[in-house]
Amino acid sequence: MNKIKNKYILLPVITAIFSLVFLIFVSNTFKLSTNKPYTNFLKDVSSNTISTVYVTTSPKIQVKLKDGTVYETDNPRTNNFKEGLLKNGVNVSEQALTSPLEIVSIAGFVISLVVIGIMLFKTTKIKSKSMFSASNLDVDAVEDIGFNFDNVAGNEEAKDSVQDVVDFLKNPEKYTAYGARMPKGVILYGDPGTGKTLLAKAVAGEANVPFYAVSGSDFVQIYVGVGAGRIRSLFKKARSHGRAVIFIDEIDAIGKKRDNGSGGGSDEKDQTLNALLTEMSGFNETEGIIIIAATNRLDMLDEALLRPGRFDRHIEVTLPDVSAREKILKLHLKNKPIKDIDYSEWAHKTTSFSGAKLENLTNEAAIIACKDNAVFIDNTHLDRAYSIMLAGYEKVDRDYIKDVDRKITAFHEAGHALISLKMLPNDKVSKVTIIPTTKGAGGYTLSIPEDSLYQNKEHLKKKIMVLLGGRAAEEIIFGADNVTTGAYNDLQRSTQLVANMVTEYGMGESLGLLSMNKLKESGFINQDAVLSECKDLISHLYEEVKIILLGGKETLEAMTNLLIDKETIYHEDLIKIIEDKTDVAV
Ligand code: ADP
Ligand code: ZN
Repeated sequence: MNKIKNKYILLPVITAIFSLVFLIFVSNTFKLSTNKPYTNFLKDVSSNTISTVYVTTSPKIQVKLKDGTVYETDNPRTNNFKEGLLKNGVNVSEQALTSPLEIVSIAGFVISLVVIGIMLFKTTKIKSKSMFSASNLDVDAVEDIGFNFDNVAGNEEAKDSVQDVVDFLKNPEKYTAYGARMPKGVILYGDPGTGKTLLAKAVAGEANVPFYAVSGSDFVQIYVGVGAGRIRSLFKKARSHGRAVIFIDEIDAIGKKRDNGSGGGSDEKDQTLNALLTEMSGFNETEGIIIIAATNRLDMLDEALLRPGRFDRHIEVTLPDVSAREKILKLHLKNKPIKDIDYSEWAHKTTSFSGAKLENLTNEAAIIACKDNAVFIDNTHLDRAYSIMLAGYEKVDRDYIKDVDRKITAFHEAGHALISLKMLPNDKVSKVTIIPTTKGAGGYTLSIPEDSLYQNKEHLKKKIMVLLGGRAAEEIIFGADNVTTGAYNDLQRSTQLVANMVTEYGMGESLGLLSMNKLKESGFINQDAVLSECKDLISHLYEEVKIILLGGKETLEAMTNLLIDKETIYHEDLIKIIEDKTDVAV
């Protein structure tokens, strides 16, 4: 809006400049063109052809004849000059003569200036308004959003849990008749991209009430009091509609647990939170307004928000399981030109993908198919999209890679692949490549993990071993002094896993079943024993990995050679090598 205003301000600016130039031009030509000797003037006086003479203190006087022509002549500056003229029947004006053109351009200039002034004033007013005032938060209700539960695939439990909210919004009187109190607020929590926003929208759509969407971060401003004001105006707007769904995304931005101890805190956040709580207790359960908030982590929220009468219903929105993934994929491919897509296979391949990621996968596949000018989107496009999502785009220009680097990468990836095949036979290693990606990896090994709710200690250890397989292969082949930075990411991930095992999952010795996070909250600081346990654990696993690789060196080398040769190898190739060579039993 401001941008448009700024564009229009050019108009008066141009007019102002134009009139100024015109004014200079007019006044110059007007003055230069007509200068006559004083004797001519006297002649005109006696012949009575003069209409008006303009006398000022300037050295020139201006003369306007009866026929309209105008000229200048010298100002005689005699005492009775004016009287003499008057006696001769000539009008005398004591103001300078200005041509009508001059007046027009002056007027143009002044008007333009006034317009510019008004415009500037207005834009600054808009700016300061949006900065200081509450009423300017852009929440317009979306009415008739044409969205319902059909647009949310999977998430059956969550849909069930909000079903009565929909019912209530449709028919609040029914619930009042039973004396039932509906929740004023519902919190949807779960990983990003799992469809929380989608679900909230669907509730409004199903109930056919307006949907107000804001984000918690909209309320966090530098100026104290703005956020609170915005909350109030948001509720005022919603209530003017009668029934409505108010959706607050990222509620943690305003309702995060207050740190105990770390004094100060943000006044602003507290004020906003208090305003929200006040508004929530201010309206009646029967009014038909429901506030749905979303957060990634329920445990981060201030308890005040979760008390009865506030956000007292908590609904988890989980990552989709296999069948939900299949439904989500179907939903997002429904209106696209597709052919022979194996939904079930793709649902299995996409373990731990969120709904948003699945949507992204289908979209990426559509883009690839479009670039290829393919008639249909098929499995191959999904395949490429999948690799891109997991590993980034393949680098096109890779001639510069030295052979020795390719060899290191090949051994590294073969190390991962071999350990994965040996230790986690249920995870399918679908692709191993030494083509570097734009995400910075020298190569990568893709494996499709098993779908499982929990991971036991044994399984976690095996996962760590797979991560260490790359570095171990480098060390075995090239020696401990020649290992590379290629394992950077692997080490970060394995360190994280080891730390979680010992400090959070109760799988270590030094802390037993204690949680490090909770201990820290209680002031625990001695972490030496934990550190040395983590280090022992990872070193121990690393030694095991090296033993496996040394025992299967023939297989490792065969995989490496095939990788150097073909750059990318697949599940079948790996199985074939394992079957040919006898040094690794899988
Ligand atoms: P969240 O609010 O949990 O971060 P969103 O609701 O914004 O996630 O989801 C982002 C996008 O992901 C949606 O617009 C939709 O395209 C897709 N998506 C996520 N979950 C689902 C689902 N269960 N069914 C269909 N699409 C989904
Ligand atoms: Zn690696």
